[in-house]
Amino acid sequence: MSNPYAWLESSLATIHKANWYRSVQTITSQPGAVVQLEGREVINFASNDYLGLTGDQRLRSAAVAATQKYGTGSTGSRLLTGHRELHRQLEEAIASLKQTEDALVFSSGYLANLGAIAAVVGKRDLILADQYNHSSLKNGAILSSALVLDYAHNDMADLLRQLEQHRQLYRRCLIVSDSVFSMDGDLCPIPEILAIAHQFNCMVLVDEAHATGVLGATGAGGVEHFGCTGETLIQVGTLSKALGSLGGYVAGSAALIDFLRNRAPSWIYTTGLSPADTAAALAAIKIVQQEPERRLQLQHNVNLLKQLIQQQLPHLQLLPSDSPILCLPLASATAAIRLGEQLKAAGIFVPAIRPPTVPTSRLRISVMATHEMAHLEQLVRVLGGM
Ligand SMILES: *Cc1c(COP(=O)(O)O)cnc(C)c1O
Repeated sequence: MSNPYAWLESSLATIHKANWYRSVQTITSQPGAVVQLEGREVINFASNDYLGLTGDQRLRSAAVAATQKYGTGSTGSRLLTGHRELHRQLEEAIASLKQTEDALVFSSGYLANLGAIAAVVGKRDLILADQYNHSSLKNGAILSSALVLDYAHNDMADLLRQLEQHRQLYRRCLIVSDSVFSMDGDLCPIPEILAIAHQFNCMVLVDEAHATGVLGATGAGGVEHFGCTGETLIQVGTLSKALGSLGGYVAGSAALIDFLRNRAPSWIYTTGLSPADTAAALAAIKIVQQEPERRLQLQHNVNLLKQLIQQQLPHLQLLPSDSPILCLPLASATAAIRLGEQLKAAGIFVPAIRPPTVPTSRLRISVMATHEMAHLEQLVRVLGGM
């Protein structure tokens, strides 16, 4: 008798051999710019908590109060028993931040992308997708059954060429891109994409996961950063990065949101977001709108770190970035892991990102508003000694 699960061991062995094996690491302290990782204190350059809101007392209190009032779970899908007034308040707050007619809260950003993409296109339709798009966008495209064509990263000439060749053969077309590329830190050119979409009668979906709360004068994200507020498009994002909670959202026209409530399976057939997560995200959006100084401090820290690296480590070339995600390219997965381990031993937590997540290995530095100048200087000093 052969073992139908035996392939698992050999696949794991292959993953180990390529140095692609991953495992979890335990953080035992409060979230923040300095954390306890596997028993030792490290300066944290691995967090998506860009504004430092995850540990904010106002978010904690909101989550506790909501738990006391509504309990720990939402007990059902939103269309059955899972809808609370808090969900509507959060959706109104997101729509107000984004300046859209409406918004819909999902249980994660991943589910928001799966649901939105699979709802708006189908078998007779076409998706044009940036080759560096996040996993949730890629899997949403597959789930939709539309034909998916990748265009070269941020290459508008390639996007145009493919639309000229293929657009007329399909009913609807959706152009899909990260707004801040999560593993590179660069931005997609939203105005150019919208202009091309207009020319070819395409819808546009941008994933603002790393941009919400971070980019734009009011923290609305990449759409605001590029002056495209008010344009018709589909914006997706997460409540779990700068907003310090858990969950995702889609923001757009009232018709889009109404349609998604009726046709997005990852919203209809999953349990509503917990009261605690909902209330924490709502508190975070208020802080994003009322305390622009957090965003300014974040931008200041990003500029400072870029400047320190340029001045003191001129041999290191960061990938181009307009966000708090700064990447140092490395020749191999082995080199990335080794450098990551050396940094950790020196008290600096910077994750090594390897294939298959990205085509080429790199160290990925995430800057937070709560990093102090001494933290940034220490990173540069330690990198300089390696
Ligand atoms: C993190 C991330 C998501 C997923 O969001 P979750 O709320 O964590 O599920 C989606 N898209 C991008 C680009 C991301 O970086």
